[in-house]
Amino acid sequence: MIAKKMVKFVEGSSVTRAMFEEGKKMAAKYGAENVYDFSLGNPSVEPPKQVKEAIIDVLENDSPNFVHGYMNNSGYEEVREKIAQSINKRFDTKFSQKNIIMTVGAAGGLNVALKTLLDPGDEVIAFAPYFGEYNNYVANFDGVMVVVPADIPNFQLDLDTFAQKITPKTKAVIVNNPNNPSGVVYSEATIKKLAAILEEKQKEFGTAIYLIADEPYRELAYDGVVVPYLTKYYANTIVGYSYSKSLSLPGERIGYLVIPDEVDDFENVLAAANVANRILGFVNAPSLLQLAVSKCLDATTDVEAYDANRRLLYDALTKYGFECAKPEGAFYLWVKAKEDDAAFVAKAKEFNILMVPGSAFACPGYVRIAYCVDHEMIKRSLPAFEKLAKCYEV
Ligand code: PLP
Repeated sequence: MIAKKMVKFVEGSSVTRAMFEEGKKMAAKYGAENVYDFSLGNPSVEPPKQVKEAIIDVLENDSPNFVHGYMNNSGYEEVREKIAQSINKRFDTKFSQKNIIMTVGAAGGLNVALKTLLDPGDEVIAFAPYFGEYNNYVANFDGVMVVVPADIPNFQLDLDTFAQKITPKTKAVIVNNPNNPSGVVYSEATIKKLAAILEEKQKEFGTAIYLIADEPYRELAYDGVVVPYLTKYYANTIVGYSYSKSLSLPGERIGYLVIPDEVDDFENVLAAANVANRILGFVNAPSLLQLAVSKCLDATTDVEAYDANRRLLYDALTKYGFECAKPEGAFYLWVKAKEDDAAFVAKAKEFNILMVPGSAFACPGYVRIAYCVDHEMIKRSLPAFEKLAKCYEV
């Protein structure tokens, strides 16, 4: 008999993952070239060649005990120092190795941060639409998820409603920029307003409210749009970063948390995050990947490839009459469903198009199309999208 809490997790198990499995079945039935699977955020661009070279270099030149051994639960000091300096160079910050904790991707980092911060009943605020796994991560530590409804049709942050949702029990706020699933980027002006509200509420309630910046898509921004670095706007910020998308390494599970000196109760937060990394069972982030990424901190993914996909899909779908949020970052297109989102997803499946209903992101009535796919597949899929649009013409 499994734990009651797990029953709920299993029942609500990821819709996105289910779609991905469905895609594999459909590919076997109809032929892979006739199925248009836009379900999963698995990068289509190969990892930069520096990554492979770095992995080989680590294996050939570093001592095996060093490469494969245990280390400080927060990660290798020299790796963390290199990452801190790289962040400082890019964002004009002043971090050192003590501010960096290597994690098992962004998912590992978010769980470490939430385990560090949450007592049962503590509230965590997220802005819809958001990555549905946040619900599970918050529930892991018996926190209570508080949702700010989507700001339709722009999908920016509804800050008036946000201010009303903050209570003395609010312990953390998660902001994901660029956003999965909307592809929207929150501007500096928006972040400044968000920070001002948090400062005011901390004073009003005499509490510490931590802002968790979930940033796996930081490098995926288009048309020169700037993604603000949140520690510069609000002292109580913890950044969660991942190489899953920026270096196309989602299966390798590598990322980090940034915990600035300025966060409330800094020494204890740091100590708790180090222990959380260990006792959640991660112990430490994968050693080989820590060393490898530290050797290619200037490597970049092929953002132009995603940009070409973005333009092709956005232009075609709007031409067919679909309403899409303006995609400025990440690799997702957020589209208004022409009927109930689950029914719309089912209708799209009749044309072999797989996408994820907005309900999985706390925002029914929309669907997410992940365009981190082969450009040719998008081209092949366009007639199917056109047929789908025709189903709703009156
Ligand atoms: N946060 C967001 C918004 C995501 O979209 C994802 C993955 O798709 C994650 C966190 C988890 O990323 P990782 O693979 O680094 O654990």
